[in-house]
Amino acid sequence: MTCIFCRIVNKEIQADIVYEDDWVIAFADIHPQAATHLLIVPRKHISTINQLQEQDAELAGRMILAAKKLAHERKLSENGYRLVMNCNADGGQTVFHLHLHLLGGRRFGWPPG
Ligand code: AMP
Ligand code: ZN
Repeated sequence: MTCIFCRIVNKEIQADIVYEDDWVIAFADIHPQAATHLLIVPRKHISTINQLQEQDAELAGRMILAAKKLAHERKLSENGYRLVMNCNADGGQTVFHLHLHLLGGRRFGWPPG
């Protein structure tokens, strides 16, 4: 298996895992862009948002709910945080296993740079 996030899901390679449920796992990004930078990753391999199917609707919702829970635990809820999901080259996607970035602990601008 070559997908790096599948290997993390399957515990074949190490990651700083902070949350797991039946749908997702979450772990620290190795190149953090903020004081809190976690990746929420579905256990199921889906390469990009473009491959999401109707039957993945609960999975997509579970990713966001896991992010909300992690943000709350880290006391980010009130000040706020950013959730990012990149798709393909123009979106800046580098790992082709769906994932949601949870970024917090600093102020982000809009539009993004
Ligand atoms: P994206 O550019 O949206 O595809 O984001 C991929 C993210 O995965 C980047 O922020 C990387 O720093 C992160 N990343 C890549 N490999 C690992 C790894 N082995 N453990 C944790 N984070 C990783
Ligand atoms: Zn994968």
